[in-house]
Amino acid sequence: MNPQEVYHRILVNLARQIREGNIKNKEKLIRSIISECLPEKQQDPKIYQKVEKQLDYLLRENNENPPLIEFIEEMCQECQTSDHHPCTDVCPTGAISCFDGTHYIDRNLCVECGRCVNTCISGAILARSELAQVATMLKDSSINPVYAIIAPSFVGQFGRDVTPGILKSALRAMGFTEVYEVALAADITTLFEAEEFRQRMEQGKKFMITSCCCPAFIKFIEKIRPKVANLVSPTVSPMIAMGKMLKEREKEARVVFIGPCIAKKNEAKRPDLAPAVDCVLTYKETKALLEAAEIRLDGSLGHMEMEDASHDGRIYAHTGGVTEAIVRAVKSLNPHLKIEPVKGNGLKQCGELLEEIEKGKVKANFMEGMGCPGGCVGGPGTIIKVAEAAPYVKKFARRSKCFAAGDNPTAHGWMEDYYKMTDHLSEKMAMSGRKVPEHPEVATEYIPPS
Ligand code: SF4
Ligand code: SF4
Repeated sequence: MNPQEVYHRILVNLARQIREGNIKNKEKLIRSIISECLPEKQQDPKIYQKVEKQLDYLLRENNENPPLIEFIEEMCQECQTSDHHPCTDVCPTGAISCFDGTHYIDRNLCVECGRCVNTCISGAILARSELAQVATMLKDSSINPVYAIIAPSFVGQFGRDVTPGILKSALRAMGFTEVYEVALAADITTLFEAEEFRQRMEQGKKFMITSCCCPAFIKFIEKIRPKVANLVSPTVSPMIAMGKMLKEREKEARVVFIGPCIAKKNEAKRPDLAPAVDCVLTYKETKALLEAAEIRLDGSLGHMEMEDASHDGRIYAHTGGVTEAIVRAVKSLNPHLKIEPVKGNGLKQCGELLEEIEKGKVKANFMEGMGCPGGCVGGPGTIIKVAEAAPYVKKFARRSKCFAAGDNPTAHGWMEDYYKMTDHLSEKMAMSGRKVPEHPEVATEYIPPS
């Protein structure tokens, strides 16, 4: 088994033990994981230590506030003697360095994109997991409601034949009170950002960066390119919007985001946004939970339809989708307003574009940035490859009963009843408590070249 498969078995076993109420017996849990995954190494104390380290990291309490991305030093060894270090190669900000054969993360440069997690050949890089908390929550969801909100990129992730309806029924069978598409909230944030763009342009401002869904991109601006901070829309992400609306509707609701993203685990913890979303699970973690609960994904549990969102809300899953949705919404507000977008596909490209924007060299007035190449369908918590996932997303979007965000009656209902009651703007640039310098010359004097 490769490290990713071993980690999956650790998650499944952990979730199973929590369901059975056996979590106290850590040694038994470690032994059962090793006998299942690495039976030939049952007597190897190093393997015991490795699994124990991973488990300890998974079982840390939230209030210990562990870093989102962590190296387990004892496990970082298999590429020591090689010139090729996959984690340093993949890191888009140069945050990882290697001294004396061990790797370190510079927290001032790490934007928490999670791309290093899947590349480590030793399984030494872990992202914080809230699987244990969710497994515990689901045990009493009949008393305290737990809502799953699922990201637009979910289609196809759990198997070719696992339709949205089958997945929704399976999540309900596992204990979630109800399942909602985050794309519903994307329809609402699209309308708000389109209106914001209109106002900015009519006030004579020159540029807007959509902040919609990608916390890694936002953190990249904050840490690497803070001069353009004033150009970023303050509208909250669809995940936060959906969580806020559910809690506005039902104060005691607990909300779990299921998606492709590691960076969102920390977005949900930001003091100015919490407690909109209580826990964040990746698709990989959700798959482990379903497996531990022995939930079948063959349709035998039903096909509850998902009809929450428009075509344009659902295409947020891939790079360019946010732009397409907002351009359409801007045109319906004012057909004569010129919107000239550029897109950053992956943090490397985002960084290049932001540098050009800072210098006033981009001929555009709107930018979308997606931290992962391909967008969320390429996120580090996905199960299938980006090329395989994109067609599923497009097909599901085409099946929507309405096309543009503004055509979605469900979104208008939620917006009037709940969204407008919430605090739906965020102080994104104060995300990590750093003081972001003011750069009024970029915000107000930015003049794109003609
Ligand atoms: S999470 Fe992203 S930015 Fe941070 S060290 Fe890993 S690859 Fe680099
Ligand atoms: S592109 Fe999507 S999955 Fe990737 S970091 Fe951004 S929000 Fe997360």
